[in-house]
Amino acid sequence: MENKLDTNTSSGLREVDLIIKNAYIATVNSSNQIFKNGSIVIDQSKILRVGLDSSNYRAKRTIDARGALVHPGFIDNHVHLNYHGLRWLTRDGSGWNEALPLHMKYMEIVNQESEYMSSMLAMLEMVKNGTTAFLESGGIVNTDAAAEAATNIGIRTFLGDAFIRDQDANGVSVSTKDKDKIYNLLGTELARNRDGNGLVQAVISLSGMGKASDDLLLMAKEMADASGVILNMHQSYQENDYIEDNNRLGIPPMVHYDNIGLLDSNCMFAHVNCISDMEVRPILDSKLSIAWCPMASMLFGLGGTIKGKHLELFKNGINISFGCDSANWTSAFDIGEQAFIALLTAREKTGDPSALIAEEILRIATINGSKALRKESEFGSIEIGKRADLVIRKNTLPESLPGFDPLREVMVSSRSKSIDTVIINGDIVVENGYSTKLDEDEFANEFRVFHQKLIANLEKA
Ligand SMILES: [Zn+2]
Repeated sequence: MENKLDTNTSSGLREVDLIIKNAYIATVNSSNQIFKNGSIVIDQSKILRVGLDSSNYRAKRTIDARGALVHPGFIDNHVHLNYHGLRWLTRDGSGWNEALPLHMKYMEIVNQESEYMSSMLAMLEMVKNGTTAFLESGGIVNTDAAAEAATNIGIRTFLGDAFIRDQDANGVSVSTKDKDKIYNLLGTELARNRDGNGLVQAVISLSGMGKASDDLLLMAKEMADASGVILNMHQSYQENDYIEDNNRLGIPPMVHYDNIGLLDSNCMFAHVNCISDMEVRPILDSKLSIAWCPMASMLFGLGGTIKGKHLELFKNGINISFGCDSANWTSAFDIGEQAFIALLTAREKTGDPSALIAEEILRIATINGSKALRKESEFGSIEIGKRADLVIRKNTLPESLPGFDPLREVMVSSRSKSIDTVIINGDIVVENGYSTKLDEDEFANEFRVFHQKLIANLEKA
């Protein structure tokens, strides 16, 4: 990719910060408009113009995309930042239940430093793989450490309060004292939304998966409504918790949530790998969103991509987005990989090669993610007035040739290998595939030192 300072000083042209030229632009607008040899004019944090002509502008900087694909940044709607130091400390071939004790032990020794270092690594991984915004699923205790990392890496971040739960999966309530503490904590992250332009924002998050009483669910929903944010929680990850929900409630969980008036278009549920036919109608009626994490099921052989109904719900208008979950629940924090896996599993499950196509997985990975966050008017597509959150690919890899269908080349063949430049809020955060915000080698060394300390602390705990 060629970057150059534009020295054109001819008068009458509006000066802007950045123009991307010669791009194959997948706008992901409502008609999936494509501009071949298009340009994107960016000033400060926003997109000023998209189209074939940028001759009315002169830029402080011009990037020549040389015909490569430019698309909106990916959005990861289910992330646990906290566990990157634990990656593959689990025994290869072990189940999710074997991984859990290690993760719980880690939470006993967690501190500001470990949450900062894990967040830094997770966020660096995300931006380098083309993710420009993500939702942390309420598992960070020192949220300021995550916010600091987000500012340092330059990634758009949505945080929630950590581990909000008031009962166990059998419905046994926590003590009144703990309940008061938990209820007081709910919504404290919302203070971050006072600066509407801030890179770090907040939503309402519950742990979910049977760990919330109806009182807590409705309290959280009311708070989300009043604050104009979403309510996010885990739901129906695998058979154990799904059966627990059914046993405790006497009916399938989504039917129960519908009965108590919880389900709404500002609810986002992560996973939903288990689902009965009875739950389809309330989901469709409510227009809720789902963060589909295919690998979090596949890595443990849970069957969510086969038995789940993500594809059917998507085809019936439900807003499906993608999530990577956490370090031991995915290959990497790479939404492009989740998208590719989703495409493959959809075709394999249905026997239909048109079950999901590249254009659809790009929409799920971008605009659907922002819709789930209720931020589609701000980012998620390349349109005038939206934040400049986008990815420029390179098209010189073997996997990018012959260059007949740039969108399919990227989503199916070259995938994260072809990430060249990532722009968030108008700021170039990745250039030539590397972070512009830190020395990656230096960070890798720092992380290794931190990791040795972490292992020693885990052994002592
Ligand atoms: Zn999760």
